[in-house]
Amino acid sequence: MTQQPTRICILGGGFGGLYTALRLSQLPWTKLEKPDIVLVDQRDRFLFSPLLYELLTGELETWEIAPPYTELLANTGIQFCQAEVASVDVEVKQVHIKDAETVLPYDYLVVAMGGETPIDLVPGAAEFAIPFRTIADAYRLEEKLRSLEPADKVRIAIIGGGYSGVELACKLAERLGDRGRVRLVEAADQILRTSPEFNRKAASEALEKLGVFVDLETKVESITAEAIALEYREQVDTIPVDVVLWTVGTKVAPVVQALPLKHNSRHQLVLTPTLQTDRPEIFALGDSAECIDAEGQKVPGTAQAAFQQADYVGWNLWALITDKPLLPFRYQAFGEMMTLGKDNATLSGLGVKLDGPFAHIARRLMYLYRMPTLDHQIKVGLNWIMQPVRDLLASQSPRP
Ligand SMILES: Cc1cc2nc3c(=O)[nH]c(=O)nc-3n(C[C@H](O)[C@H](O)[C@H](O)COP(=O)(O)OP(=O)(O)OC[C@H]3O[C@@H](n4cnc5c(N)ncnc54)[C@H](O)[C@@H]3O)c2cc1C
Repeated sequence: MTQQPTRICILGGGFGGLYTALRLSQLPWTKLEKPDIVLVDQRDRFLFSPLLYELLTGELETWEIAPPYTELLANTGIQFCQAEVASVDVEVKQVHIKDAETVLPYDYLVVAMGGETPIDLVPGAAEFAIPFRTIADAYRLEEKLRSLEPADKVRIAIIGGGYSGVELACKLAERLGDRGRVRLVEAADQILRTSPEFNRKAASEALEKLGVFVDLETKVESITAEAIALEYREQVDTIPVDVVLWTVGTKVAPVVQALPLKHNSRHQLVLTPTLQTDRPEIFALGDSAECIDAEGQKVPGTAQAAFQQADYVGWNLWALITDKPLLPFRYQAFGEMMTLGKDNATLSGLGVKLDGPFAHIARRLMYLYRMPTLDHQIKVGLNWIMQPVRDLLASQSPRP
């Protein structure tokens, strides 16, 4: 009788899950040890979320930042299953899929289902505000902006002066130009509270240059189809708006919350430094988990961290299956980058501080290097190289 191969199920194909699957497929398995690797995601495409803003300005296209899994996983031996995970029975080691009779059995599980935007924090937000986390959100915003194209003025309120809020404000102000009235609403007394001073200053200057109004120490009271009520120093003002974007907060998906494993007060899974949960056969990473690394550092909920954790989860699964010692995760903070408009960005980290067009190019190149699979990097890289040539040809072709 032939023995069934070990089966690893990875739930969620984002920065944590997809990169874990790719890492696992590259490890030196013997023929006998080689596991079946199954990647499960509700969507058909991976999303490189740090570049989602570029869809709004037409700088990048969907295929560049959201390649289909089938394309990325071709020739890797990884099986892709497009399905929504409904629950996991950790006792019998089975994943239940929404609206399906079949279950996915596993020997080892990786939980990498990321986070969701809590859109119901103030009255009216769930009905009238648009979150900005997925391709569907970007398309919804695009549709709204197109419907407003005949209008002389487009009034946008962006809730949250963190990275997403600032980056969105810069891109939208640049896209709309003189027609735009973009307002950034922040509850604290400054934007980008956790950023290095250099990035905060570059961002403030970019917002000012683009004419974005910044409301500090201001809370959202409620949102309707045509207006937003803002509270500043106990006084409430109601301001007419066409679009409200909600960028505040991250919450853990209900399916992760329901797992009978150790959680913190934010419902994230609590991990050991080897990125295991309280069940050693279940690993977790990314936004759905809380991790204190081997040096005692709290690991942030970023793509940068999930990407680094994926390397360790892949390696530690290999070590567990092949009876080798597991490695405790060590997070390396490489700094942060932000887009501040079409040809402007800021970055600081590893002793380097840069803003303006050079930072924009450096950011693009670093993200190109981080994209999954060499094939995709080459396709996107060639497209970026050819873009100036296409622009030049288009500008020289005679107008009809
Ligand atoms: C607009 C935006 C910009 C960002 N910019 C940056 C940045 O510049 N730098 C940075 O470091 N970080 C950035 N981040 C944060 C970063 O994207 C996240 O921290 C990172 O993606 C977390 O990785 P993850 O694998 O935990 O989750 P994700 O990458 O979100 O992946 C989770 C995956 O799980 C799938 N999933 C969820 N629930 C289910 C289910 N029930 N069934 C099946 N599949 C499911 C989802 O479809 C998704 O593909 C940004 C985030 C956003 C939204």
